[in-house]
Amino acid sequence: RSKDAGGGEYCEYEPTLHASAEERRKLELSLRNALVNNEFLLHYQPVVDAVTEEVVSFEALARWHSADHGFVSPGKFIPLAEETRLIVPIGQWVLREACEEAARWPGHVKVNINVSPEQLIEPDFAASVVRALAQTGLAPERVEIEVTESVFLRDAGIARRALEQVMALGCQVALDDFGTGYSSLGYLRKLQFSTIKVDRSFVQGASQQSAESLAIIRAVVAMADSLKMTTTAEGVETIEEAEMIRSMGCTKIQGYYFGRPMTAEEARNLIRREDLRKSA
Ligand code: C2E
Ligand code: MG
Ligand code: MG
Ligand code: MG
Repeated sequence: RSKDAGGGEYCEYEPTLHASAEERRKLELSLRNALVNNEFLLHYQPVVDAVTEEVVSFEALARWHSADHGFVSPGKFIPLAEETRLIVPIGQWVLREACEEAARWPGHVKVNINVSPEQLIEPDFAASVVRALAQTGLAPERVEIEVTESVFLRDAGIARRALEQVMALGCQVALDDFGTGYSSLGYLRKLQFSTIKVDRSFVQGASQQSAESLAIIRAVVAMADSLKMTTTAEGVETIEEAEMIRSMGCTKIQGYYFGRPMTAEEARNLIRREDLRKSA
């Protein structure tokens, strides 16, 4: 199929296929220029201590406002960026931007940064973390890198060594969306993750009285405890879910109930309000 094959002849045969391939091509073109066009920004979602409900961290979440396509959700552009390897430069920007913002927060507030497998297996990944920390003055202890189980699917050895390098710097590493992908129980033995993030689907299941979801959350919490790891429950949307999660002994909670992803300015205001309340 030549690029400049014009007209509707393909549309007649496979309209949806043609439209989506064409849409994807356009999206990819725009994504290629999104960094230089300054179209990305980060939102920050609070992670709170399950017991005290104090904000202990914010997760940095990429947002793309495309001049051509409007707001494009991360669920759409992150996979495209991964397929095209554009996630490597985009991820570098995220790392640098998130560290710069976190350096403005009080020392007790950490930042969580998502890293894709394609970024992790770049030979200079650890060096790019060192650079981001040096340029922003952020202490490594305040950074928690989030990876999903999928990093151990391919190039497991490379991914593991990169994570060990990052841990040697003093950063922490969390296992994101736990329970949804390839089982990485073997990696729990080999790598000292700081946190296991229990996927939202289990929280949802548990709040719908699913005995299986409840059992899985309890088992993950027990396993994390004995491995000296903490747990974060993702996607907590209601007070009932927050109470249920707390009663099961999760360490931290993240979700719309405690705060949606917000702008950097809103995150700063949230920290300020909380510090005022604490000193009052
Ligand atoms: P994630 O790392 O698991 O991030 C949590 C996602 O759950 C976020 O979606 C967040 O907005 C959403 N969420 C949080 N609390 C709730 C809740 O109570 N209810 C519901 N329904 N959703 C909740 P978001 O921002 O759309 O990001 C989706 C995914 O895109 C992320 O999942 C992450 O895998 C990826 N992503 C986002 N930013 C980056 C980035 O900078 N780099 C990389 N590599 N991936 C990113
Ligand atoms: Mg995450
Ligand atoms: Mg997650
Ligand atoms: Mg996810």
